[in-house]
Amino acid sequence: MRQSIVAAAICLAVPWAGASAQTPAVSQFTRQLAERRDVREALRRLETGFTAHVDEWIRIAQIQGKSTHEQERGALVRKAMQAEGLEVTTDSIGNVIGRRRGTGGGPTVAFAAHLDVVHPLGTNLTVRRAGDTLHAPGIFDNSASVANMLAVIRALNAGGVRTAGDLIFIGTAQEELGLHGMNYWLDHNPQPDVLIAMDGGLGPISYGALGIYWTKYHFKSAGSHTNTSRGKPTPVKALADAVSRIYTALPPPLPNGAVFNVGQIHGGEIFNGIPENLFFTTDLRSNDPVLLDSLDRAIDGHVAAAARNEGVEWRKEIVSKLRAGGTEAMLRERRAHPLVQTAIDVYRFVGVELPPGREAIATGSTDANAGVVRGIPSIAVGRSFGGDQHTLKEWAHWPSALPAAKMVLLLAVAMSAPPAESRVVP
Ligand SMILES: [Zn+2]
Repeated sequence: MRQSIVAAAICLAVPWAGASAQTPAVSQFTRQLAERRDVREALRRLETGFTAHVDEWIRIAQIQGKSTHEQERGALVRKAMQAEGLEVTTDSIGNVIGRRRGTGGGPTVAFAAHLDVVHPLGTNLTVRRAGDTLHAPGIFDNSASVANMLAVIRALNAGGVRTAGDLIFIGTAQEELGLHGMNYWLDHNPQPDVLIAMDGGLGPISYGALGIYWTKYHFKSAGSHTNTSRGKPTPVKALADAVSRIYTALPPPLPNGAVFNVGQIHGGEIFNGIPENLFFTTDLRSNDPVLLDSLDRAIDGHVAAAARNEGVEWRKEIVSKLRAGGTEAMLRERRAHPLVQTAIDVYRFVGVELPPGREAIATGSTDANAGVVRGIPSIAVGRSFGGDQHTLKEWAHWPSALPAAKMVLLLAVAMSAPPAESRVVP
């Protein structure tokens, strides 16, 4: 018994180091925990409050929320958290943070639901309801999670659930611009013991981080009138050559390789002259930090060679660099952390099926990435079924937000308990 308490204490103190690759993952979720009177009452309140939950979800989705313009959504979240007695702060980047104090002696569990959407200000966000589906830009990503978060806070209070560790609920800002709000919060606050991003559909649990590098490559020449252009260096040829070299040398695909895309080519103003300035953008993604950096350098090499051949100048502009968490092989210890197995067990308990053999995946593109690359045990869990996110056709299946909210509530209770208390000790 003592041994298992000691092992559990190590889990708490050393992020990700609680289990080795050989140790089977230990779950902190038990059926007894779900059947505790307060927890049962909280789950019941999620059910009885579900109509109001969906109504609030629709209200949130109809508030404009383009990244950096999340304030009105933030104000709604702030008001709801204050009404539930949380200690609420809004930081200078626009994150709204509500702390629900624990009784002490348990891990601090942070939940993050991003407030922002990709849709420009002025987009028609009116929600259309058709049967079990809600249609509107941003309804799925990530208005659903914001509503789930508020519903969970209310249900915990209504059930009288006390946790040992603090629960921190964060409506994050500027997630869609590169996890800016989450990174800001982690850089300016004590690290939580566990970070759970509420984002994505109800699919596999993400415990990794897809690294994403966004770069602009600029080419410059002296330019020339078309009539005198024969034989003169032109950035158009250099750009075309560079892009072609990169695509010819593409690495193997994900999950162990990379994906790459040129999303933009800009430059030139007129028909009758060699352009002086051009650029193209690259979007390079991999789970493997070593591969990502080596591909980044290889792309520089292709661009440099193409520019040299043509006799034009080139320059690299790094727009955004989100670090990679590691491949499945590199993240074996993280897969074995109690957080991942607890989440899998909780999904099963609430009746959400996960693809067999792919219950948890070593990748992710959510606020959890910011935790993964800092060594904080971090996962992303889903908000509902849905699709077509980041488009005007976005939709969400509203009944599935109920099991998603139950899952978050149970994760909050299981992960904030002192590990010894939530385990069946032989
Ligand atoms: Zn999202």
